[in-house]
Amino acid sequence: MRPRELSQEFLAKLGFLARLKHDNFIDGRPWPSRSGRSIPVVDPATEMVVAETPDSDADDVDAAVASARRTFESPAWAGMLPAERERLLYKLSLLIEEHADELSALETLQSGKLQGIARMVDVGSGAALVRYMAGWATKLEGQTLQPSIPGPPGLQYRSHTQREPVGVVAAVVPWNFPLAIALWKVAPALAAGCTVVLKPSEETPLTALRLAELVMQAGFPPGVLNVLCGRGHTAGAALTQHPGINKISFTGSTAVGKSIGRAAVDNMTRMTLELGGKSPMIVLADADPQAAAQGAAMGIFFNQGQVCTAASRLYIHRSIFEPVLQALVAIAQGMKIGSGFDASTQLGPLVSKRHFERVMSHIDAARQAGARILTGGERALPGGYFVQPTVVVDATPQMAILREEVFGPVVVALPFDEIDEAVAMANDSPYGLAASIWSHNLSAVHRLIPRLKAGTVWVNTHNMLDMGLPLGGIKQSGYGQDLGRASVESFTELKSVCMAV
Ligand code: NAD
Repeated sequence: MRPRELSQEFLAKLGFLARLKHDNFIDGRPWPSRSGRSIPVVDPATEMVVAETPDSDADDVDAAVASARRTFESPAWAGMLPAERERLLYKLSLLIEEHADELSALETLQSGKLQGIARMVDVGSGAALVRYMAGWATKLEGQTLQPSIPGPPGLQYRSHTQREPVGVVAAVVPWNFPLAIALWKVAPALAAGCTVVLKPSEETPLTALRLAELVMQAGFPPGVLNVLCGRGHTAGAALTQHPGINKISFTGSTAVGKSIGRAAVDNMTRMTLELGGKSPMIVLADADPQAAAQGAAMGIFFNQGQVCTAASRLYIHRSIFEPVLQALVAIAQGMKIGSGFDASTQLGPLVSKRHFERVMSHIDAARQAGARILTGGERALPGGYFVQPTVVVDATPQMAILREEVFGPVVVALPFDEIDEAVAMANDSPYGLAASIWSHNLSAVHRLIPRLKAGTVWVNTHNMLDMGLPLGGIKQSGYGQDLGRASVESFTELKSVCMAV
């Protein structure tokens, strides 16, 4: 079946898409945008418009923030026991799992990703994260301390710290894992007792809107999660600059993250910024070439390479450079490209026409700069935004293909002779999100881990996230962490209490 027929078959099954036009979700209900304008949501496999969502402006932002504020201060939410927040989050995780088919189909339709991946990652690991964060609601704690305050004579002091919810959160998320990354923000924020205004990407707003309905179905008070659709430079900017926002949790590009961060400082808004990457994978001489090639293929072609931690730079010891490359090229050339709804597909389309053109222009620029395209480098299918899996060699360190985030199925491979050379090349990047080492030489691996300037280092694997393991970048890749205890604590303020007794 062709992508268009597959999409139409799935579209017909989705009750949520019976209507073409959707509203924002504010105060527990659909909320028409004051702007009256809308943005089309396009299926990237077929280029069909499948829905329209609001092109919100500053008035809509005010309404969403006001709702989140009212709820944050309401007895229904502020007075809720942590165990009740835990119970509601647990219920939400079950609802997400119950709706796995629908949510994963919406995800495939709006982003093009494989439905199996959407079911496993966006929905499956998203639900697991909500459950994990549910447990934190009852486990946020401070410390008791023994103060050394001298006098006045006769007085003693007792001190402790306590964690309190930071307030109203603006969660601004990208299109590559729309539901999963939304849950990375929403679940810890609600566990900590905050309320949220979630702005999904204008390309992929549908699962966020459906999530808001499930939050209500789980029994949360209205206004705990508000979903505001719209463009980044209008709705996103108005939201993140709003004085009623206490914390911004942003995932997206480094350029946008920096502009949000600059504005946030004016209001002293707390922030977590999860930004771009150009992650290296280093294959040492003892690695098995076949396993390394499979790892590299997973590292760069998973989700069409639209992964912040994608292994887009591949450094291979010269002694095994050729066999690893040959195996990688064979995998790339054998990949089945097509609709994400087709269970046999291994590589779907990129998210949008704009992004497709961006990735193709990176490939063309590399070619013109003198790099060699070993395989791929072309549009893969006549319709839709499909790019062939691409392996580039002979790039030099100054080339944009080695320095800039392409965010597509494009890997650049280079050989190295000495470990020091591999470390220097791996660290020669403005980014510092993740890296991986492929070797069974324990001593070499342990010596290498501290030398890599990255927030996460994987060994003999790549792109593997766990809900308990913090994910954050150094250098231009970000500020703060998602996932794990670090994430839920970032939605709290630490208050110090000192008593004279
Ligand atoms: P983007 O920065 O263009 O947009 C991200 C979100 O920010 C969208 O919702 C967008 O509407 C909004 N936005 C855009 N301009 C804004 C502005 N001026 N003010 C406020 N909001 C604004 O990123 P994208 O293209 O959607 O996503 C891809 C990027 O996300 C890549 O750089 C990727 O590396 C990064 N990413 C990082 C992580 C991580 O954990 N570090 C995870 C996934 C994606």
